[in-house]
Formats: sequence, structure tokens, C-alpha cells
Amino acid sequence: MSIEKKHNFTGKVIVITGAGGVLCAYFAKELAKTGAKIALLDINVEQAAAYAAEITAAGGVAKAYQTNVLDLASLEATRQAVLANLGGCDILINGAGGNSPKATTDNEFHEFDLPAQTKSFFDLDKSGIEFVFNLNYLGTLLPTQVFAKDMMGKQGANIINISSMNAYTPLTKIPAYSGAKAAISNFTQWLAVHFSHIGIRCNAIAPGFLVSNQNRALLFDEQGNPTPRANKILVNTPMGRFGEAHELLGGILFLMDEHYASFVNGVILPIDGGFSAYSGV
Ligand code: NAD
Repeated sequence: MSIEKKHNFTGKVIVITGAGGVLCAYFAKELAKTGAKIALLDINVEQAAAYAAEITAAGGVAKAYQTNVLDLASLEATRQAVLANLGGCDILINGAGGNSPKATTDNEFHEFDLPAQTKSFFDLDKSGIEFVFNLNYLGTLLPTQVFAKDMMGKQGANIINISSMNAYTPLTKIPAYSGAKAAISNFTQWLAVHFSHIGIRCNAIAPGFLVSNQNRALLFDEQGNPTPRANKILVNTPMGRFGEAHELLGGILFLMDEHYASFVNGVILPIDGGFSAYSGV
């Protein structure tokens, strides 16, 4: 390996689920600059198609596919279309995921005297909890079942999952999301072992707290000052600031690139400004 070598994925097919979303659309646009052909999968195909068009207009190769990561028939149809349009998958990024208000408590701690309208642990909706577990965990496992068939024995094949800080220590209010992300970290290690004889590495990133257009209003008031929850995050992040989407990219490129990470398998890489390393004292 030459230390001067830049990331070069020319000709590789990178399949990204949740590619109509904030983070994975950004990854798709940046990874297209490495010469890879990008398949943008999302249940919301309009967004994914708009990002694919941006990539194509900038000279890259990309195509959007309407895909439900929870539906094997939809995944298999997309696999066949990707095979026909771009070729077999080399690298899979399992990015589809998220939380639901139905699986989120209003309160951080249960108390004897909560106001009657509080949505407490006892009010969490079974269907909301199932939705969050399915989307994050099954939504990572099922695309892997489908696309890894095309990755077996391919030089440099690997899978990147998206875990979370919640996987290490759960955040208050969101038990289903925390449990599902812990399951993703666990599955990442399981899969790394399971696929180790057929040449497919599997790793994950665990992003810390990022500012995005979606959560900016929750984290900052109209004057730009951090809200109480944002302050808690900042106090517990040794670097004392939020991350930006572009700060995840280096970790993903490193894990993906066989020239740098050919012996890296089964790691969950925190990219968190030190949050997961800090006891708070
Ligand atoms: P996002 O909500 O912007 O994007 C998620 C995308 O997944 C959406 O485009 C949505 O349409 C798609 N999707 C939802 N259900 C689907 C389904 N059944 N089939 C196919 N696509 C489906 O989320 P994001 O902030 O970009 O997060 C991407 C990943 O990173 C998620 O796994 C999330 O849990 C994780 N993550 C995000 C942060 C953060 O701060 N944004 C932090 C840690 C982890």
C-alpha cells in the first residue's frame, strides 16, 4: 500500500439504504466523487431521485430505487434492477433508520406525581416500539441478506451499519431506539464473524450528536442559544460542540477502503467528540 493513495472506488457499486435522508444523501454525494456507482435506495424515492440527479449532473454515476428495507420482495426487485443497471453490490451502507414519537416518553424519569397528560413508559405504544425495532434492526438485517449474495468473494466487499451513542448507554426517553441500535452494534459483530470466511468485512459507525436542519430547532432557541437538552449533550461531550455530517465521512471512508482497513472487521467506531469515553466526572 502506498501512503499517498487516495480513496478510489472506481467501478465499485455502493448500495446505500435511507439515501433520501439527511446523512445518507450526503454520503451518497461525497462517495460518488470516488468514482463509485451509487444506488440510492429509499422508501421515499422522490428525495432519493433528486439526489441521484444531483450526482449525475455533477458527472457521477447514480440511480435511485424505491425500496422498502422491511419488504424482501421490494429488496429483491431492487437487487435485480441494480444488477442490471450498475452491476452487483460491492459495498452496502445500511443507513435507513430512525425513531418514532409513539416509542418516546415525555419524561426522563418516572415520578409519583406526573401530570395526567404525560406520555409515560406505561403509555408507550406496542406498534410504535415494533416500528422502531423493525426499521432499525430488521431494516439492517434484511438488506444484508439480499445484497450480500452479490458481495461474496468480491475483492474489497464490505458492509457499514449505522449504530448510535444509544448503543453504549441508552438516552432517556427513547428505549426502543436505544435497544434497536444496541442490537445493530451486536449484529455488526455477529456478521463480521459470520462472513469472515467469504471475504465480506462488516463494521459500523456510531455517530455522536450532530446538528442537522431537522433537529436544529430542538437544539437551539430563536436566539441561537442551546436548549436545556442541547446543553446536557454539550456538557457531556468533552469537545464541547456538536458534530457535523462531514465529520462522519472520514470514518466511513476508512472502514470502507480495503487499502486502509483490510484487517478491520467487527468494530463500531464512535465519532462523537469523546461523548462515549466520558463518565461526566
Ligand atoms: P433521516 O430520517 O434523514 O433519513 C432516514 C431515511 O430512511 C429517510 O429518507 C426515510 O425515507 C428512509 N426510510 C425510512 N423507512 C424506510 C424503509 N422502510 N425503507 C427504506 N427507507 C426508509 O435520518 P438521518 O438523520 O439521515 O439518519 C440516518 C441513519 O443514521 C439512521 O440509521 C439514524 O438512526 C442514524 N443516526 C443519525 C444520527 C443523527 O444525528 N442524524 C445520529 C446517530 C445515528
